[in-house]
Amino acid sequence: MGFFGKVISKFKQGLEKTREVLVTGAGGVKNLLMGRRLDEEMILELEKILLQADVGVVGTRRLIDGIRVDFQAGRMSRGEDVIEYMKREIKAMWPEQDRQLVSAPSGPTVVLVTGINGAGKTTSIAKLCWMLRSQDKKVLLAACDTFRAGAVRQLEIWSERLGVEVIKGQQGGDPAAVAFDACKAAVSRGVDVLIVDTAGRLHTQDPLMRQLTKIRSVIARQIPGAPHETLLVLDATSGQNALRQADEFAKALAAAGEPAGAAAGGPGAITGIFLAKLDGTAKGGIVVAIREVTNIPVKFVGLGETPEDIESFDPEAFVDALFAA
Ligand code: GDP
Repeated sequence: MGFFGKVISKFKQGLEKTREVLVTGAGGVKNLLMGRRLDEEMILELEKILLQADVGVVGTRRLIDGIRVDFQAGRMSRGEDVIEYMKREIKAMWPEQDRQLVSAPSGPTVVLVTGINGAGKTTSIAKLCWMLRSQDKKVLLAACDTFRAGAVRQLEIWSERLGVEVIKGQQGGDPAAVAFDACKAAVSRGVDVLIVDTAGRLHTQDPLMRQLTKIRSVIARQIPGAPHETLLVLDATSGQNALRQADEFAKALAAAGEPAGAAAGGPGAITGIFLAKLDGTAKGGIVVAIREVTNIPVKFVGLGETPEDIESFDPEAFVDALFAA
């Protein structure tokens, strides 16, 4: 199996629950459409299925309107045509863009990771470490979540397993000081990537948001151009809630004095989304909804609980896997 085939099969496995609801199950689109002539009732049923899989109102409306126009104009009459149409349209939603981590032209690349507690932030950081280590990159972690008891230890356990060093401070200490030490260490040790874990924050908690802003400015002063990426970890199982979080995070960061977020079309406080737990949900359509509603690219998806369960998001593989037999 070629590289692309392997990626598709990994996505296919990870998307099992979504595939069941959206595509392969008794109530899915294949059962509704295959071998049948299209009619208005089927289009209405299709709309329900898309909404159930959290494709979202905007994305669903766009797909359904397009199908209806073609159907009424006599350009689309078979159920199979609808499936091909959806595959084509969904793939075309993502512009050509590089979904790899942005790298610093010289010196360490700094990746700041944020997200609410429980979203899968620590596990996602372990996955990033694993991926970077398997690319022979030297990685350093900064444990700036000094707020939550056990957060540093949790990170240390992963780092020991993955052979990555951690810079940490006192429980309850100043996270910006940890970020400062970590930047110094990253430069002096010549690491390729510094991953900075921040306190799992609720976007509504002002002090935590300001803390994040402070960490960002400390990093920017130490390493020009840094942080090169600010990744927001979202929990795919929370469906439309994840979407609200992305929006509110971007707004809260902007309100805390950050430049306009990527969601606002600006250079971007949040540069990418790590969508965790995609394997644990039937709401995988959220990937489409994120694309429709925010401008923030999903860069990585989590497809399981081990560090290897990370994939760079690839729209082509995602759609092919979703609709595969
Ligand atoms: P944090 O509080 O945001 O740091 O969240 P954790 O990284 O501790 O993850 C919370 C729970 O989600 C843990 O039980 C993880 O094993 C689980 N988890 C994280 N990412 C994934 C994923 O991609 N797939 C699955 N199935 N579970 C995940």
